[in-house]
Amino acid sequence: MKIVRFDGGRIGITDGRKIVDISALCGSGPAEWPPVGINRLIRNFESLRPALEQILAEDKGVPFAGARLDTPVPWPNKLIAYPVNYHDHAAEMASTGLANIQGFFLKANSSLSGPHDPIELPDLAGRQIHHECELGLIIGKEGRQIPVETALDHVFGYACLIDVTVRGKEERVMRKSYDSFTPVGPWIVTADEIPDPADINMRLWVNDELRQQASTRDLIVDIPHMIAVASSAATLYPGDVFATGTPAGVGPIQDGDTVTIEIEKVGRMSVPVIQGRRGQNIVFAKPFDFQKAKI
Ligand code: MN
Repeated sequence: MKIVRFDGGRIGITDGRKIVDISALCGSGPAEWPPVGINRLIRNFESLRPALEQILAEDKGVPFAGARLDTPVPWPNKLIAYPVNYHDHAAEMASTGLANIQGFFLKANSSLSGPHDPIELPDLAGRQIHHECELGLIIGKEGRQIPVETALDHVFGYACLIDVTVRGKEERVMRKSYDSFTPVGPWIVTADEIPDPADINMRLWVNDELRQQASTRDLIVDIPHMIAVASSAATLYPGDVFATGTPAGVGPIQDGDTVTIEIEKVGRMSVPVIQGRRGQNIVFAKPFDFQKAKI
């Protein structure tokens, strides 16, 4: 099943042609703050699933094409990300800090944005800002010290995720936490539709140029181990989002570009890029030699 948030915070289920609004069923709606109705839906999903399947079959809903899609989980407890998790990306970045050595990091939850929200580039003269094509993963079941063997039982579903990054030597969390730096969408596909997440193909284009192409079979730390490692440190909660890492082919984006991400069995979305006027600060206001820096 596909779960969306749309039209200013409504929660819906969709078959790709129509959306059925289930906000009331989730005790949620556009006025809800903080917007955690989707977290409750994810937590209670298995008991609600039969009713939801019936609603999707019987309710005529609203046309999918007319909806404005929002980021699926705007208020997770955590946005966890794995750096350098494909060998070919490690090679292109001349990086030895692989995900199996470094572990995970966090991005600001407020960097999450939706399929219809533009990526707003901060005004950082001389810096490159890169796209990273990633499989997004959403946790369904709470857990701590989750064993590798049962880790996939904790996955609610998957989504397309773009991890936007200012290149440089500063703290990763800062370079990756600007508003709109984590587009997620177009929906969450529940895990039952992807029985083997270890072989999912993904592609990313900037405008018409194919920049990234890979399969999750080339992950350094695979999905069960990502969940095990993260949960060894922190309790995972329903709605937590994982950015699972990017393959080779990262590169700069600029004002006027359109970034398109497509993940097999998950979906596809195209996000416009605009140049913002905000984002400068004393940290980035210094000379930066992109060629010299080992990024
Ligand atoms: Mn990344």
